[in-house]
Amino acid sequence: MDIVFDKVGYTYQKGTPFQSRALYDIDLTIKEGSYTAIVGHTGSGKSTLLQHLNALRKPTEGTVTIGDRVIASETENKNLKGLRKKVGIVFQFPESQLFDETVAKDIAFGPKNFGASEEEGREIAERMLPLVGLDESFLETSPFDLSGGQMRRVAIAGVLAMKPDVLVLDEPTAGLDPKGRREIMDMFYRLHKEQGLTIVLVTHQMDDVAYYADHMIVLEKGTVMKEGDPREIFRDADWLKSKQLGVPSAVEFANQIQKQFGWSFSTLPLTTDELAREMKPFLLQKEAERQ
Ligand code: ADP
Ligand code: MG
Repeated sequence: MDIVFDKVGYTYQKGTPFQSRALYDIDLTIKEGSYTAIVGHTGSGKSTLLQHLNALRKPTEGTVTIGDRVIASETENKNLKGLRKKVGIVFQFPESQLFDETVAKDIAFGPKNFGASEEEGREIAERMLPLVGLDESFLETSPFDLSGGQMRRVAIAGVLAMKPDVLVLDEPTAGLDPKGRREIMDMFYRLHKEQGLTIVLVTHQMDDVAYYADHMIVLEKGTVMKEGDPREIFRDADWLKSKQLGVPSAVEFANQIQKQFGWSFSTLPLTTDELAREMKPFLLQKEAERQ
């Protein structure tokens, strides 16, 4: 299922004295099976854009086509429930939405809302916990007795329990420690690779874009400034810096080697693995020069 934005604009509180425009003329495609990263400064419209991916917000101009459903400003709110199931959104600080008395009940809430029985809900909760790196011993625990990182995992399990085709993540690791961040990001990548889950990730971490995404969108003041292959976009480090956006650490390192030694990389390395590989010809040449 692809999601296509066609000239999408969004104005908050449209038609009131408080109206403010958050998105302008957005054209983009989220391809089935892709891993798209969306970057941009605070206030650039990332969260507003995400809420259009499952019709939680309807565009005030243009259309969003989600699979075979076309959403426009005049689309009625009924019959949108199915879309919420197909496209699951993990909001910023999702743990704040936990409410039930046990972890099992919290995870099963969505499926039960869609008609799953008590037992089915329980089974789903049992299956979801290991996916997010927690074991069965948590099922009867109150979500409010968990650590922040564990609460976040339970909230993510609740979204995965709906078996979405598209998983939308709004800064999913904000506020977590480095180990927790890495574990959660690796988990999403596994789901993407093993189950073909389409992922849309909003992040400030360029390393996460470099490691995981195959498509990248740069938003600024509600418009798409650049869209494409992350390797192409990261090639223009000066442009990113002029926008006060960083580059992945491997790119930063490669650019320094380039600058200080006049060496140019045939392929711009995005990750430490690629960097190690791409450094080999450089090191061999330096070695030869010494002899
Ligand atoms: P980001 O997620 O990139 O930080 P947002 O989508 O949250 O950006 O915000 C985009 C713009 O819309 C900002 O100017 C913000 O102040 C405004 N905005 C966001 N949410 C609301 C809202 N509920 N009501 C009015 N304006 C909003
Ligand atoms: Mg946001």
